[in-house]
Amino acid sequence: MLTVNAYAAPSATEPLIRTTIQRRDLGPKDVLIEIAYAGICHSDIHTVRGDWGPQQYPLTVGHEIVGFVTEVGSEVAGHEVGDRVGVGCMVNSCRECVNCLAGQEQYCLKGNTGTYGSVDRDGTITQGGYSTHVVVDEDFVLRVPENIPFEAAAPLLCAGITTYSPLAHWNAGPGKKVAVVGLGGLGHMAVKIAHAMGAEVTVLSQTLSKKDDGLRLGADHYFATSDPATFEQLANNFDLIINTVSAVIDLDAYLSLLALDGTLVNVGAPPEALPIHVFTLFGNRRSFAGSGIGSIGETQEMLDFCAEHGIAPETELIGADDINAAYERVLASDVRYRFVIDITTLR
Ligand code: NAP
Ligand code: ZN
Ligand code: ZN
Repeated sequence: MLTVNAYAAPSATEPLIRTTIQRRDLGPKDVLIEIAYAGICHSDIHTVRGDWGPQQYPLTVGHEIVGFVTEVGSEVAGHEVGDRVGVGCMVNSCRECVNCLAGQEQYCLKGNTGTYGSVDRDGTITQGGYSTHVVVDEDFVLRVPENIPFEAAAPLLCAGITTYSPLAHWNAGPGKKVAVVGLGGLGHMAVKIAHAMGAEVTVLSQTLSKKDDGLRLGADHYFATSDPATFEQLANNFDLIINTVSAVIDLDAYLSLLALDGTLVNVGAPPEALPIHVFTLFGNRRSFAGSGIGSIGETQEMLDFCAEHGIAPETELIGADDINAAYERVLASDVRYRFVIDITTLR
């Protein structure tokens, strides 16, 4: 066992604190990663605060991880000491179910093993990336291309893949009108990726306060959802809407913005149910869908796509002792556009 420095939540209601956690001894297929940077995803906050259900504490979260391989197990074939690697939201799956066999292990029918807060194969609870090291099965370790700045790369492992996957699945591209609801961590990556795919991109944000940023990130249009005129002007307009909002919004109002056969994909994960009227779906034969992260294969495809198109997240680098303050800023929609923890501050 390896004892490593970490930041952990002692309970759902207390601030995160410095602590130590255990990492398992390297198995033959395991990779030991010295973590360099870890992104702060809104899901980390939902999880530690018990929004999605009770957790076992203390809990170290963080599932946007990049670092260097420092040791490999005897049977590891795909990674070498010194490699720049990444770990996202899952670290294992059953590998036998129909979805795993189809290369869609994020939808493992037995539940994929989350990077934190999941029961690992040895029965312990997985602990995430707000720590100096992590041990991960090599099949769940990604290669981070050299031309993606390392200090900005971590958010690709969740915010990047969670937006890339539905944009690719629903064919965002030339001739398609795509709207992104919420310009936070996921939203700003959705804008960059949809723009790089060739789609016409619109940001739907609560206010116009981030309009200049949105246009700079690649949006063609930017509207405030606090202005009722937005919903009149954009009615029946979009082929695809990606909703990244972490809270309950009036879905019928957003669905009414879809053109014929358009789809609204929810990636935001509020704790409460999202009510919709089916009559909104009857109009324009609209679809309402969800999407969860992406497969390991698709995550590598996304990393390579971002490298090819020169895409990287916009980040604000913080020290480990700034995590609690960063959480409050994320909750206040005051993030530009992803907090990334410099893990050297934990050593
Ligand atoms: P974030 O950085 O906090 O961004 C969310 C954005 O939503 C905010 O910046 C804000 O944008 C908007 N927003 C927040 N509260 C709102 C409200 N009450 N009404 C309207 N708009 C509001 O969060 P994130 O890290 O991108 O994550 C977003 C959501 O996706 C979270 O619920 C997270 O758990 C979930 N998630 C899901 C998956 C998946 O696999 N499906 C993966 C990762 C994360 P504006 O200021 O522009 O309005
Ligand atoms: Zn996440
Ligand atoms: Zn499976």
